[in-house]
Amino acid sequence: MSPTNRRSFFRGAGAALCGAFSLRGLSAAMQESTTQYQRPKLKITDVKTANIQGFHVRIYTDQGLIGEGEGVDAVGGAPGIIAGFRYSLMNQSPLNVEAIWERIRTSGIFAGAQAGQFTAALTAVEIALWDLAGKALGLPIYQLMGGKVRDKIRVYCDSGTDNRNDPQAKVFIQQIVENGFTMAKIDIDNAGDPSRFDRVNWTANNAEIDHMVDKVAFMRESLPKTIELAVDMHGRYDLGTAKRVARELEPFKLVWLEEPVPAENIDAMRDVRQSTHTPICCGENVYMRWGFREYLEKHAVDIIMPDVQKCGGLLEARKIADLAHTYYTPIAPHSQASPIGAMATAHVMACCPNFLVVEWHWGHPAQRWARWKEFVQEGDIIQKGYITAPDRPGIGVVMNEEAVRKTLPPGGRWFE
Ligand code: MG
Repeated sequence: MSPTNRRSFFRGAGAALCGAFSLRGLSAAMQESTTQYQRPKLKITDVKTANIQGFHVRIYTDQGLIGEGEGVDAVGGAPGIIAGFRYSLMNQSPLNVEAIWERIRTSGIFAGAQAGQFTAALTAVEIALWDLAGKALGLPIYQLMGGKVRDKIRVYCDSGTDNRNDPQAKVFIQQIVENGFTMAKIDIDNAGDPSRFDRVNWTANNAEIDHMVDKVAFMRESLPKTIELAVDMHGRYDLGTAKRVARELEPFKLVWLEEPVPAENIDAMRDVRQSTHTPICCGENVYMRWGFREYLEKHAVDIIMPDVQKCGGLLEARKIADLAHTYYTPIAPHSQASPIGAMATAHVMACCPNFLVVEWHWGHPAQRWARWKEFVQEGDIIQKGYITAPDRPGIGVVMNEEAVRKTLPPGGRWFE
């Protein structure tokens, strides 16, 4: 519980000292609002959502504690979906996270609860419940996820450049180096490649593949050897192209090649993996344990990358990581969340032995980076390429509302 929230939770105690309650009355009030072990008996009273550089959820309780959650990507319809969750949330204890999550998921089996928008909306709610649970119990979320196996969470920088003709390239690459990142990632898929013959078909021709390889060569020769490199193809190419690109990139010793084919055909992904020494990574468009099960069973990838703000939630990410651990497969979460979501991810990854590295996507352009630093009152949560999960209760960062409100687009939704 944060100092502020502790104050509101125990405000009855202060009032009693002022004579507003008798000692007997205070004792009864405390009994009613806590268990015999002093755990608070909270009830959820409201849930509200906002669209602010991502999708944010706040869950309110009868004792003044508020939980913050975040969802990404598949959240266009999330406000309406979460309105449908209200029945499962109201008057429930936010400490029973698994029970609420399972009730909402199973009640949505015919409403798309297997993946996509339903799961992303549930994810944002689940994260807010963990934030509440941590605040109520006075514990950081990592403590509720099994405890830390590491203090510092390694972060890689989505580079913002990949092109030797980009006049800003030097600046962005210097930024990666100066800020202490140990890994970067670039995108090599290009629907606008001038050598394309057909904008619908996704077989890359020789010239396109040459352009892709040149982007990797440019980054590899521009970055110090100590900074590792990964490459994303965003699941846009066919199987033959994916295999050719994976083979051509072998000399660069990438950390991974991401989504060389779309995520939905697991056998095709396994074909790519078996055809190359380049490690294959996939998962930002895969949901929950059931989505990752077959990837792991079929050994279709070298690395999994669920997005923790989309895959089902913090505990679900922990379960996916544990499932992967039984296949000796590392987890490298996708992320484009705000510092609130990024810190929630850091709490879980602090607890996962097979965590490899997590994404950071706010580096380009410089204006976006400035917004990242202002988003929470704690400032920039990345220090020298690492995030440290704080010891404060819950997620442990507080939205800088004054700065964030300024970024609301006209007609934007603010916790309605
Ligand atoms: Mg990707």
